[in-house]
Amino acid sequence: MTPNIDQNDALFERARRVIPGGVNSPVRAFKAVGGTPRFIKRAQGAYFWDTNDTRYIDYIGSWGPMILGHGHPAIVQAVQNAVLEGFSFGAPTEREIELAEEILRLVPSMDMVRLVSSGTEAAMTAIRLARGATGRSKFIKFEGCYHGHADALLVKAGSGLATFGNPTSAGVPPEVVQHTLVLEYNNVEQLEEAFALHGPELACLMVEPIAGNMNFVRASVPFMQRCRELCSQYGALLAFDEVMTGCRVALGSAQSVYAKAIPGFEPDLTVMGKVIGGGMPLAAFGAKRAVMEQLAPLGPVYQAGTLSGNPVATACGLATLKEIQKPGFFETLSGRTRSLVDGLNNAALDAGVPFCGDSEGGMFGFFLLPKLPQNYGQVMKTEGARFNRLFHGLLERGVYIAPALYEAGFVSAAHTEADIAATVSAAREVFSSL
Ligand SMILES: *Cc1c(COP(=O)(O)O)cnc(C)c1O
Repeated sequence: MTPNIDQNDALFERARRVIPGGVNSPVRAFKAVGGTPRFIKRAQGAYFWDTNDTRYIDYIGSWGPMILGHGHPAIVQAVQNAVLEGFSFGAPTEREIELAEEILRLVPSMDMVRLVSSGTEAAMTAIRLARGATGRSKFIKFEGCYHGHADALLVKAGSGLATFGNPTSAGVPPEVVQHTLVLEYNNVEQLEEAFALHGPELACLMVEPIAGNMNFVRASVPFMQRCRELCSQYGALLAFDEVMTGCRVALGSAQSVYAKAIPGFEPDLTVMGKVIGGGMPLAAFGAKRAVMEQLAPLGPVYQAGTLSGNPVATACGLATLKEIQKPGFFETLSGRTRSLVDGLNNAALDAGVPFCGDSEGGMFGFFLLPKLPQNYGQVMKTEGARFNRLFHGLLERGVYIAPALYEAGFVSAAHTEADIAATVSAAREVFSSL
């Protein structure tokens, strides 16, 4: 097919007439990088094809869930079998128990979980649960961490520690975020000040342990240790948002990575999504039994969902979790991901382009900066125009990375060494023109 009119342009124009901005989630619109978004027709393994039948090596993996790559036969089979049994019942199923048991086995800091349909819903309810369980209203989040789009979480730092946050979206009244305290990531001193001022009023501290919504920034071990100590000291719950990192950076999620560095380390609340649904709408939150028993129908904290624990989504999640537990899965995935980051690093070095990158398990990030940033302010020092040239250069060469410099990247088990090598060689060409 040799279309004169690019089919992506035609679809984008059509989409914009009926869907705001032509997309159902803003970053898909290529607003940050410019140009026309690719409309994806199908995907298989490490690749997807757009409406022009152009193939791309996919490094977004639906923003994390597709850890096995696209169209894995065992997952397709599990979903097909589930569909034949029914789409949704609004009554409990055995598969929900199986998935809950599986998640708890992988992430043993939780005694119980509740299944929901999106990360937004899980994080929003985790905050409600923390407030209900502690009888306190205030909570801490960090600039650059994303926890979905619930009103109280769409907030940026105010002018000082005493003033709390300001909404980052129209439609969120200032009163709704008046209990959200926004701090700088990895800043121990500010954390201590915040607890000294507000500790006894804090319901929880919510954090992305490895932040994937400001590209890829790890919470330092001393910072995480201080978060744990201060939460325990003041009776606030330490809530890990592992929607992105859960079963993605390690089988035991990011908390298992921190537990290696801090003996006995555990968060009090965990929010999961993405990989545990394997590409279907599924997320979860969990905690120790006493906290989870505060939820309806046992306790006074309300939460519900028509499609929660959906039988098709749980089948997909279960099959995915089974595959990632096969021997050597994470070793291979981590090695591939590391070799991608190393390859990109060498290519940039040879071209004299400032570059640094990091990865954990199947998640990675890189920056056109000389050294790894520690917080959102440092991430945003990346020169946007340069990133955009890199993005489009890779896209033209059949490599699809996130269309914004503040997003993480994902490698799947379907990415081969040849895919990584092709990606690095495409990057080498682009770097030489940066
Ligand atoms: C993706 C994400 C969410 C939101 O999940 P949705 O399913 O998109 O609502 C929340 N927290 C983190 C850390 C995420 O990466």
